Amino acid sequence: MKNFLSERAQSMAPYTAGEQPKDRRYVKLNTNENPYPPSPKAVQALHAFDAETLKLYPAPDSADLCAAIAAAEGVEPQNVFCGNGSDEILALCLPAFFDETGAGAAFADITYSFYPVFCRFFGVPYAQVALEEDFTLDLHKLTAMPAQGLIVANPNAPTGIGIPLAEMENFVRENSGRVVIIDEAYMPFYDQSAALLTKKYKNLLVVKTFSKGYSLAGMRCGYAVGDAALIEGLCRCKDCFNSYPVDRVCQAVCAAAVSDAAYYAEMNALVVSERARVSEELQKRGFSVLPSSSNFVFARHGRLAGREVYEGLRARGVLVRWFNKPRIENFVRITIGSAEENTALLAALSEMLR
Ligand code: PMP
Repeated sequence: MKNFLSERAQSMAPYTAGEQPKDRRYVKLNTNENPYPPSPKAVQALHAFDAETLKLYPAPDSADLCAAIAAAEGVEPQNVFCGNGSDEILALCLPAFFDETGAGAAFADITYSFYPVFCRFFGVPYAQVALEEDFTLDLHKLTAMPAQGLIVANPNAPTGIGIPLAEMENFVRENSGRVVIIDEAYMPFYDQSAALLTKKYKNLLVVKTFSKGYSLAGMRCGYAVGDAALIEGLCRCKDCFNSYPVDRVCQAVCAAAVSDAAYYAEMNALVVSERARVSEELQKRGFSVLPSSSNFVFARHGRLAGREVYEGLRARGVLVRWFNKPRIENFVRITIGSAEENTALLAALSEMLR
C-alpha cells in the first residue's frame, strides 16, 4: 500500500512521555506531577469562568496572564511569553533562536530528552556535553561548545541535580554573545531561579511551567521570561504556527494560580520535606540517591537492575520511570507523591527486597 507519510515523518523518533496505563489503579510516580491540588483561587477561577465567552477566541498574546506572571516574577509584561505547556515554548525556541545552517544547539547528554527531538524536528544541529561521573554538569564544558545557543535544565531532569544561581549567572555572563535558555520546570522545588537575571542579561531566556510547581499539568501552560527582543522572536514564531495556543479557561485559571504564591510555597515545601524522607528511606533500602533539587529522585539500587526495580514496582501497583539508556539504565526516576503515596512506594520496595 502507498505510504502517504513524508520522509520526514517516517524518519522521526518522537519523545516518549511516561506511560498512563488504565488496566488498574496505580500509585503514579512516573511523570513528575504535583501530588497536591491546584490553589483554591485557581479552582475558584475555573468555577467562576463564564462558559459563554468560549464562543470567542482567547487573547492571542495572553495579555492578562502575562501581566499576572510579570507581577509574580517581578518583571514587565513585555518580558513574558505564554505557551501551551513549556514544551511548546522550548520547541518555538528552536526556530526563534537557531538557524538550520548555524552552529546549532548544545546541551547535556543526560537531560530532558525532548531537546534533541525538537532539534531534529526543526532541522537544527545539536551537540551534547557528557555529564561528569557524579552526574553534575560542568558548565565550562558547555561554554566551550561552538554552538549558536545553549540549553540547560536547572534543576536537571532526570538527575534532579540543581546548579546554584551564582554559577548560572557566571555562565550566562560568559556566554553573553549567544542565547542561553534555562529550563526551570523544576525550580519551584529549588528556589534558585534566574528569572530576575533576565533584566540584566539580554541573552537569557528562562522557561517555566504551570505543570509542576502550580499543580496544573492538565491545563497545559508554560511561560518564558526574557528580554523583550527574545520574547518578540518567540511571538513571531508562534504567529507562524498557532496564534491562540493558550485557551480562555487556561488563561483565567493560570492567572489566578500565579497570584497565590503563599499557597504554592506551602504545598511545595511539603514536597521538599517528603523528598528528604523518601531519599533517606531509599538509602536504607540499598539505593544510592542523587542529591535532588526537584520533585523527583533519581536512584540506583546496589543489587537490582533499574529494569527489575521498575518492573517489581509496577507489579505492585507503583509506577516509576525507567530509561533504557546508557549510563542511566540502572536508575529509576521516582516522583515525590503525597505522604501516603510515598509510604506505599516504600512499602512496595520493602516487600520486593524481602
Ligand atoms: N522541561 C522539563 C525538564 C520537563 O521535565 C518537562 C516535563 N516533562 C517540561 C519541560 C515540559 O513541561 P510542560 O510542557 O508540562 O510545561
